[in-house]
Amino acid sequence: MTFPFRQLGTPRFTGPLPEAADVVVIGGGVAGVMTAWYLHQAGQRVVLCEKGRIAAEQSGRNWGWVRQQGRDPAELPLMIEALSIWKGLGAEVGADLGFRQEGILYLANGPADMAQYEAWLVHARAHGLDSHLLSRAEVDARLPNAAGWVGALSTPSDGRAEPFVAVPAIAAALAARRATVREACAVRTLDLEGGRVRGVVTEAGRIRADRVVVAGGSWSGLFLGAHGVPLPQLAVRNTVAMTAPLPLPYEGAAADNDFAIRKRLDGGLTLTPGGQFNFAPGPMTFRHLLKFLPALRRDWRAAHLHPLNPRGYPDAWTTPHRWTGADETPFERMRILDPPPDRGQIEKARAQFAAAFPSIGKPPIVDAWAGMIDTMPDVVPVIDHVAALPGLTVATGLSGHGFGIGPAIGRVTADLVMGRDPGHDLGRFRFARFSDGSPIEIGPSL
Ligand SMILES: Cc1cc2nc3c(=O)[nH]c(=O)nc-3n(C[C@H](O)[C@H](O)[C@H](O)COP(=O)(O)OP(=O)(O)OC[C@H]3O[C@@H](n4cnc5c(N)ncnc54)[C@H](O)[C@@H]3O)c2cc1C
Repeated sequence: MTFPFRQLGTPRFTGPLPEAADVVVIGGGVAGVMTAWYLHQAGQRVVLCEKGRIAAEQSGRNWGWVRQQGRDPAELPLMIEALSIWKGLGAEVGADLGFRQEGILYLANGPADMAQYEAWLVHARAHGLDSHLLSRAEVDARLPNAAGWVGALSTPSDGRAEPFVAVPAIAAALAARRATVREACAVRTLDLEGGRVRGVVTEAGRIRADRVVVAGGSWSGLFLGAHGVPLPQLAVRNTVAMTAPLPLPYEGAAADNDFAIRKRLDGGLTLTPGGQFNFAPGPMTFRHLLKFLPALRRDWRAAHLHPLNPRGYPDAWTTPHRWTGADETPFERMRILDPPPDRGQIEKARAQFAAAFPSIGKPPIVDAWAGMIDTMPDVVPVIDHVAALPGLTVATGLSGHGFGIGPAIGRVTADLVMGRDPGHDLGRFRFARFSDGSPIEIGPSL
């Protein structure tokens, strides 16, 4: 098996655009596809526009963890709902999405890790999760012949799914049910009339719609900024490697401070350098720097700084910030954000894996890629209407852990768009929190 987004061929979801819809959803990642899924299910005429290919950015490149463990408590109710959606989603879609409930382990290199894990358990208990600490012997029983962990935090009900299978399969089921899904269809601008949303202008023409959802992943900040709606969003590069099948009996996902692993359906592991990311500042970084200081203070050790974002990236110095519906936009110029993996980090992760599992040694790498993870200053999403532009709803900034929670984000976003009660308190995810003087608070997440 290799990473499939290299041989995508011609777009799969094509055809003429309708002149009008009830809702246009911008972005074919997990947030956009699941929002469209629930809107369509509720009888809305929905058009999903993806500038490149469905799930070819973050939603197809991620580690595949479906994780309650370690989350910001505000996300837990949504994540618990997401898990229950995942359990039935494959049957509903008619495809194996790779979802398996095999648990997640945070492995402890020392007592300080154990203390952090124990502190988070108070939130797990408050939400009725099955999270608990494991002793050294209990870790050994799950990961035999491994060297060195003193214990772990375990959530057996957590799961995994196959990123490059799941979201495309859901989009295909959506299209088969006669929702309009379009690839190679960048939305250039919102169509505004009298200060409210009346539709969108795409590269293939205009669609009239009184409600529009922006679920553009790492591009949402650029898109919204062009409409005078600032969203403090940055993106960091994270590298992922795919090993050949390995003789490791553990079926779930696990991480320590050095590397993270997740069993795939083919028996190989998705291996990543633990908590490491590459970051290149651009104009949006400087614009929003103050808001990101708390996150930078927390994570600076994990950051590998680079001088420049490559040409065409959302936060590159040469990327335009204003355009019209008649212009070719940054979204068409970069159909798929496909950053190169950091080979040095992969070698480091292989060596660390070999040190942890000496009987397996350095794992053979079959393929490697990277993804740009979009993040908000407080590392939780934005799920809200935009008061300044009636008709506009935003579901973005999933901050590095949006794949697992994505189905529930789609469900609540669809309800917001339809004016229904989403059934959860979404106050922590409000759009205005970065502009109404609220302090930036990073929750007790791990
Ligand atoms: C390497 C890596 C590892 C991760 N690991 C995990 C994990 O294990 N578990 C987890 O829960 N999360 C994980 N994440 C995070 C998760 O993948 C993301 O939070 C989630 O996929 C974001 O989904 P999205 O729909 O918001 O964005 P995306 O998946 O990025 O989708 C946005 C889409 O919008 C499209 N778009 C943008 N602008 C326009 C426009 N103007 N017109 C049309 N289309 C547009 C883009 O082309 C893109 O396809 C990881 C992310 C990465 C990169």
